[in-house]
Amino acid sequence: MKSGFTGQLDSTKFKSIVRYGIMDTQAQSAQSDEPPPQARLNVLKQFSPSGRGFWSDVADADWNNWRWQLKHRITTLEQLVRLMPTLTPEEYAGTKLANHKLALAITPHFFNLIDPADENCPIRRQVIPRVEETHTAAWEMSDPCGEDSHSPVPGLVHRYPDRVLFLVTDRCAAYCRYCTRSRLVSNATGYDFHPEFDKQIAYIAQHPEVRDVLLSGGDPLLFSDEKLEVLLTRLRAIPHLEFIRIGTRIPIFLPQRITPELCAMLKQFHPLFISIHSNHPRELTTEVREALGCLADAGIPLGNQTVLLKHVNDDATVMRAQMQKLLLCRVKPYYLYQCDLIAGSAHLRASVRQGLAIMEQLRGHTTGYGVPTYVIDAPGGGGKVPVSPEYVLSRNADRVVIRNYEGKIFEYPEAADGTPTFPAPVEIAAPDLV
Ligand code: SF4
Repeated sequence: MKSGFTGQLDSTKFKSIVRYGIMDTQAQSAQSDEPPPQARLNVLKQFSPSGRGFWSDVADADWNNWRWQLKHRITTLEQLVRLMPTLTPEEYAGTKLANHKLALAITPHFFNLIDPADENCPIRRQVIPRVEETHTAAWEMSDPCGEDSHSPVPGLVHRYPDRVLFLVTDRCAAYCRYCTRSRLVSNATGYDFHPEFDKQIAYIAQHPEVRDVLLSGGDPLLFSDEKLEVLLTRLRAIPHLEFIRIGTRIPIFLPQRITPELCAMLKQFHPLFISIHSNHPRELTTEVREALGCLADAGIPLGNQTVLLKHVNDDATVMRAQMQKLLLCRVKPYYLYQCDLIAGSAHLRASVRQGLAIMEQLRGHTTGYGVPTYVIDAPGGGGKVPVSPEYVLSRNADRVVIRNYEGKIFEYPEAADGTPTFPAPVEIAAPDLV
């Protein structure tokens, strides 16, 4: 055992090291949680349709029409009380105040996923306002990611060197109560967001370092096919722009919007990626799976962003089901976000400690493709910072000591400066050539 290994490990326990192999030590007890019961996981992973609920007499052609869904969103306290008499006093008061902070809007499709008998329904908590939204902690902000201070022109955020965020609208199909852009989406606060596409596109055209643009908002897929096609065509005409992404929650809130016509239009603009936003396995209905399949069949790589939310998905089994179900929908889990410090979101914010514990239960316990990167968007505009359970126990110039998902400890020789760690064999026998 070389000196220089420091930290958590008792050096007497390294005696059984097999080079590059497992060290059998009693110190390997990092994983205390048992795997979650398979039965619960299987239930969470089942695909079901959203159902018709209160809209059972609506014609199929209407129900499956995205414009009908938008027109029939639940947007008022009166509608909500009528459809959900089990509204709690906190929800009632929150909904009354919502139009001064972030509007209420829920599509019939998404509303049907709410369990009205369950006050802590994970779908309900995401879209029904609560009075706690009016409580602001000292560390919370209206623009927690510092987007406004990184906007060279209205609606364009240039925070990272080679890519920009292009906000196209302040409207969404439904409004998430923890939205990091609630200062502007829905215009409940009077932010009065007016993107100017000419200026946004001109900025990108004048900055050859920008090779990647993320269209977001609000939700870009609320645009008509024609309007979106014009915008994508203008962006594709910029020679140095390599890569276009669309951030959207439409496939989850409004899967009816993902029509064959939309997919055929989008596939003209490859390489085009789509990042969806889904937080709970119940959101991944049969309709959503079909919509995502349609996008995937158009050759669009799909990633998902999940926000870690208290009483929604701050549970290792729920999160594992979510990630595995996304893979079944042909979506790669991309980011797990620590909830931003948006004003009035404390009741939805799970701890970083819990986020790390969940990551610990994903890495190694399920398919690597199903493990997202857990990030904190650094408050005030520092960008995304990955946070991870600690797998490197110690390292020096010669060795790295690591642990795996089972808590077993391994030693790996460091290849500093390309210098072989061990002397090469004196002579290497030439192979017999035939
Ligand atoms: S869909 Fe996105 S932009 Fe719209 S409210 Fe939800 S988090 Fe905010």
